[in-house]
Amino acid sequence: MKSHRVKVVLTVVGVVALAATSLSLAPTKSGEPRNLALCKEDVRSYVNSKQYMEDISAVTSEAENYIDRHIDTTKRNAIVLDIDETSLSNLKYELEMDFGYTVSTWNEWRQKSQAPAILPTLKLYKWAQSKKIALFFISGTTEDLREPVKTNLLNVGYASWDSLYMRPVKNHDKAAVYKPKIRNEITEDGYYIIASIGDQESDLVGGYAEKTFKLPNPMYIVK
Ligand SMILES: [Mg+2]
Repeated sequence: MKSHRVKVVLTVVGVVALAATSLSLAPTKSGEPRNLALCKEDVRSYVNSKQYMEDISAVTSEAENYIDRHIDTTKRNAIVLDIDETSLSNLKYELEMDFGYTVSTWNEWRQKSQAPAILPTLKLYKWAQSKKIALFFISGTTEDLREPVKTNLLNVGYASWDSLYMRPVKNHDKAAVYKPKIRNEITEDGYYIIASIGDQESDLVGGYAEKTFKLPNPMYIVK
C-alpha cells in the first residue's frame, strides 16, 4: 500500500513536470514559422500546376470584361501591363535559383531574352490591340536591359506597344513610387488608363488607373 502511494505521488509529479515542460515549449512552438523548405515545396508545386495559369487566366478574363465595358469612345483608352510574372514568365530562372536571386544571374538570364509569354496576358494584350486600346508596359527593370527585354517581348508575340517604360539606372525609388509617377505621366499625356495589371501590389497602388488587377505570384515580392 505504501509503495502504491509512493508510485501515485511520483506519477503526479511526473505529469506536473511534463505539463510544465510543454508549457515552457508552447510559446516557441506556436511562434515558429513554417519550415522554409516546405514553403518552397508548396510554391514549387503551385507554380508547376495547371492551377497557377488558371488563376492568372481568371484575373485576365475579368480584366478583359471590365475593360470592354469601360471603353470610352470619346477618350484615348489605354491599359498598363507590368512585365515580369505578368507579361513574361521567369519561372525557369526562379526554379533554377530555388527562388533565390542575385543581380549577376538575373542580368545573365535577362540577356538571354528567353522568358516565355504568360499566355493569358498575351491573349488579353492581343484582344486589347484588336480594340485599338493603347498599351503601355511599365517595368521596374532598368534601362540598360531595354534591348533584351524588347527582344524578348517581340519574340513571344507582344508585337507592338505605345511605350515601354523602364526604370532609369540611377532611379532607386520603390516600385510603389516609381510606377504611379509613370501612370501619372501617361494620364497627363491625355490617356484614360482603364486598367493596370500586375503581379505585385506595388504595380497597382498609387492611382492613375480606373481599376487594378492583381495576378498571383507566390515567388517573390517587390515593394
Ligand atoms: Mg512583375
